[in-house]
Amino acid sequence: MFLKNDQLDQWDREYFFHPSTHLAQHARGESPNRIVTGGSGVYIEDRNGRRLLDAFAGLYCVNVGYGRTEIAEAIAAQAKELAYYHAYVGHGTEASITLAKMILERAPKNMSKVYFGLGGSDANETNIKLVWYYNNILGRPEKKKIISRWRGYHGSGLMTGSLTGLATFHNKFDLPLAPILHTEAPYYYRRPDSAMSEEDLTAYLAAELEALIEREGADTIAAFIGEPVLGTGGIVPPPAGYWDAIQKVLKKHDILLIADEVVTGFGRLGSMFGSDHYGIEPDIITIAKGLTSAYAPLSGSIVSKKVWEVLERGTDENGPIGHGWTYSAHPIGAAAGVANLKLVDSLGLVKNAAETGRHFLNAMKEAVGGHRHVGEVRGEGLLCALEFVEDKESRRAFDAGKKIGPQIAAALLEEGVIGRAMPQGDILGFAPPLCLTREEADRIVDATVKAVQKVF
Ligand code: PLP
Repeated sequence: MFLKNDQLDQWDREYFFHPSTHLAQHARGESPNRIVTGGSGVYIEDRNGRRLLDAFAGLYCVNVGYGRTEIAEAIAAQAKELAYYHAYVGHGTEASITLAKMILERAPKNMSKVYFGLGGSDANETNIKLVWYYNNILGRPEKKKIISRWRGYHGSGLMTGSLTGLATFHNKFDLPLAPILHTEAPYYYRRPDSAMSEEDLTAYLAAELEALIEREGADTIAAFIGEPVLGTGGIVPPPAGYWDAIQKVLKKHDILLIADEVVTGFGRLGSMFGSDHYGIEPDIITIAKGLTSAYAPLSGSIVSKKVWEVLERGTDENGPIGHGWTYSAHPIGAAAGVANLKLVDSLGLVKNAAETGRHFLNAMKEAVGGHRHVGEVRGEGLLCALEFVEDKESRRAFDAGKKIGPQIAAALLEEGVIGRAMPQGDILGFAPPLCLTREEADRIVDATVKAVQKVF
């Protein structure tokens, strides 16, 4: 850090266009700007020397924690040896080829190849193009619509922003919503009828999906995309039997399944993939975040044997596949990925996510679950959320203007812990690094208790 604080603040307001930010408030200096200077383990440090426990791992991505020199050194070594070469027309590097093999060794069965991109959004854009290409090669050009879920989050691109089922990400953008269809979110706490059991809700959602498919015509629908656990939409694990029931409907109508594992891939739920966790057999898997623990930008589309065979045939018939990014399989990202996945293994982070996650969720339930404004404490692995309600009995939400979620997140920050006010509803989310210890989990819980007491 060389610049004086007020100089940095001024430049920040004058030159820097921040994503997902209230631009006018930021430019006027009304909203908090935190300039981060360092990180170690589950902690980050800001320019004022304040140490904060990052219980959201950045944007649920710094899974191995901050300050891992093994990854930093792998990145430096790759940059010195060969900073860049492209992957077009059969080119590659040792790092990208090795990483593809490591991913497939960890992936659910029946997966075949990895296509590398830069972030989750572009990987999902790739996936939609692959699904369209697939159906064109199979001679079914009408089979193109994609079903996603309300509250799903799949990115911020043109197509992926449309797939995302959250109003904030559509607002005033005129995204091309066709040919995208949204079906209901698997959200037990917000079930349509409080008398429903989890199994009832699953049956209802499967029936809703099937009704949508029949209304539109299965021969017009190419794929269904879903996160194993809804993430940005509120950290919502599915009701019992959900994925089995959904897959049954999709198979019956010959609709491909894209598992968006940008958050859940590489251990977050306490299994290597969310697909393993819930018995999902996807045709394509989206990966990003935990692939490199965000030490460098990298994403991937893992395609199944079934899809791969058609893609191969397509190029025999039509020539090279016309899809690629300059930075596909960037060697520095790939080197970070290789070092990161080795760390995930050597530190036993998948097991830790399961064990510490269980401790964390139970401790959180015990500490705040009984509070009159905590409607639900839910989670899976190292994902956890608290949903705040005005009235617990009826599950009535607070007036949106009260901004209870952001208030709680701000109070938590005062206690030195970063949680996330999720974009829709009064939901406080946690997705700490997978190296979280029990003591650190307890610290998050203690800070949450204080934050809740402070706001109510
Ligand atoms: N898919 C899921 C499930 C995500 O949570 C995200 C980002 O949070 C994305 C896709 C988009 O990834 P990116 O922000 O890297 O483009």
